[in-house]
Amino acid sequence: MPRSILVIYTGGTIGMVKDKTTGALHPFSFENIYKMMPVLENFDYRIKGISFDPLIDSSNVSPSFWVKLARVIEENYGAYDGFVVLHGTDTMAYSASMLSFMLENLNKPVIFTGSQLPMGVVRTDGRDNFINAVEIAAAYEDNTPMVPEVAIYFENKLLRGNRTNKFSAENFNAFLSGNYPALAEVGVYIRYNKVEILKPNFKNLKVHTDLDTNIAILKLFPGITEPVVCSTLNIPGLRGVILETYGAGNAPTDKWFIEALERAIEKGIIIYNVTQCKGGSVDMGKYETSVALGQIGVVGGYDITTESATAKMMFLLGSGLEGEELKQKLQTPLRGELTL
Ligand code: ASP
Repeated sequence: MPRSILVIYTGGTIGMVKDKTTGALHPFSFENIYKMMPVLENFDYRIKGISFDPLIDSSNVSPSFWVKLARVIEENYGAYDGFVVLHGTDTMAYSASMLSFMLENLNKPVIFTGSQLPMGVVRTDGRDNFINAVEIAAAYEDNTPMVPEVAIYFENKLLRGNRTNKFSAENFNAFLSGNYPALAEVGVYIRYNKVEILKPNFKNLKVHTDLDTNIAILKLFPGITEPVVCSTLNIPGLRGVILETYGAGNAPTDKWFIEALERAIEKGIIIYNVTQCKGGSVDMGKYETSVALGQIGVVGGYDITTESATAKMMFLLGSGLEGEELKQKLQTPLRGELTL
């Protein structure tokens, strides 16, 4: 039996064309991108495509989009060996992170890809990205998928989705995984980094669709003022804050700042300490500038990315977790998103 792959086209540059009057890029139909890729018919796979309606620029991704995507995978999970998600690059790292949490016990490949240049452009990177993503989604050994997790394929590298950031608005090599090695490297051969890839657990897929968006990201910068910090922490209904700190999780030691965080924590708001650095880990207590954060109950995020922390917070709050259990889960790798 040939392997079966479902390609889910959600929008993004990969399928965009220029509007003749305004010159702005907008998405066009899956049939059109598929027609530009007759080479896909040479694969010995059964490939089926479905298109989202409307197709979106990924700047318009929202929780309802994630729920729709998770449902499509759930409904087709038994019928396909692997999934390729064509998605805009701008928020791909958020979507891949979120899907990794929503799809518990995932035992099949879900490979996100997209491109920097539209498929209709001769020099497009979309063609290679698409072909390699399909091949990876269909790769099995001893009847077991090579990559039973949510990953991003982009310019010769397969990266764990919840470890990535988009770091370039124009390089073909647009994604970075600063704290986790590539799951596969693609050249003449596709070399899988087997020891780094999650192992299947052969349990039934469980899809979580309750997400809580009552969160905020507070990025520190030298000169940040009390009104900025306090107005964020006083947002009505706020339940969680991703505090983007410096270096190994450091923050100003000003009394007003620590007290503002402490008041928020007393109200039950979870403060999750995530570094602004693209590599390395939060280590509260290493420097004097993070000791107080640990003392007042800020939760350390280790080496998690902001994208993954955002997804994880929405997912855990949506699952109804609170207090110590929530803090404990935030500090535990659930889908390989952080290293202790
Ligand atoms: N704005 C586009 C999007 O994220 C960019 C891309 O696809 O690369 O949908």
